Amino acid sequence: MDRRKFIQAISALPIAASAMNLNELKNVTDTYENSVRMPVFFVGHGSPMNAIEDNSYTRSWEAMGKSVQEKPNAILVVSAHWLTSGTFVSTNPAPETIYDFGGFPGELYKQTYPAPGSPEYAKEVMKLLPEVKEDTAWGLDHGAWTILLYLFPGAKIPVFQLSIDYYKPMQYHFDLAARLKKLRDKGVLIIGSGNIVHNLQMFFSRPNDMTPYDWTTEFDLWVKNKIVTKDFQSLIDFEKQGKAAKLSVPTVDHYVPMIYSLGLTDKNENIQFTNEETIGSISMRAFSAG
Ligand code: ZN
Repeated sequence: MDRRKFIQAISALPIAASAMNLNELKNVTDTYENSVRMPVFFVGHGSPMNAIEDNSYTRSWEAMGKSVQEKPNAILVVSAHWLTSGTFVSTNPAPETIYDFGGFPGELYKQTYPAPGSPEYAKEVMKLLPEVKEDTAWGLDHGAWTILLYLFPGAKIPVFQLSIDYYKPMQYHFDLAARLKKLRDKGVLIIGSGNIVHNLQMFFSRPNDMTPYDWTTEFDLWVKNKIVTKDFQSLIDFEKQGKAAKLSVPTVDHYVPMIYSLGLTDKNENIQFTNEETIGSISMRAFSAG
């Protein structure tokens, strides 16, 4: 509910409302709290090292978080790093920080994002998507916590995750996301976290050269154009794009989260790019919708 409607609702209360005790009044306002429509984010998360670095990506994530005018009731993350057979939603009330990577400096393993979970909103997901199953154990993988550190510092807002069924086609993910749109009206900010171009083998074959490959730039800009023109079907059918698509998306894990973010948008919704950088065979492109 926007502020104008909220004020209308309050002014429509009967005169007797003035005699309400504070608790009763609080109950009335609680029902209106943070029910403005939340934006949808897609974030290119890149290396886990961003969790302990100050760079152009982490600064762009800070700005992205600050752009959210109303505090979300909860945050739902669809991360490239929770791949399952079947789709699961985490109802863990206290998700631990998961260090799902190896060979990084010790300092990285000391970082935590101790946000509470949100079993309540996870159940809302299961209501909207009855085929989604409950998971009680999953914490926050690095696709979630390394960016949340900057987007919403302090870890005060409840966070929960939806897994990616790795055995389903791209159209399934887009359609599933579209059925979750109502959550945005309930104060839930949804973030897809992956990378549009993500080829680690090519990245490590040239570890000291950050110049984007031709095909990195080609595919990243092709995706940008399809987002701008709202041609989401071409993005679902990205494999038809030939060699640049094959090199940019050797496996779909980091591409799928973007499809979730796009599936959650409305046709005429404004989509703003908040980062447009590419390094080697990684695209750090990020956007905010709504
Ligand atoms: Zn990743």
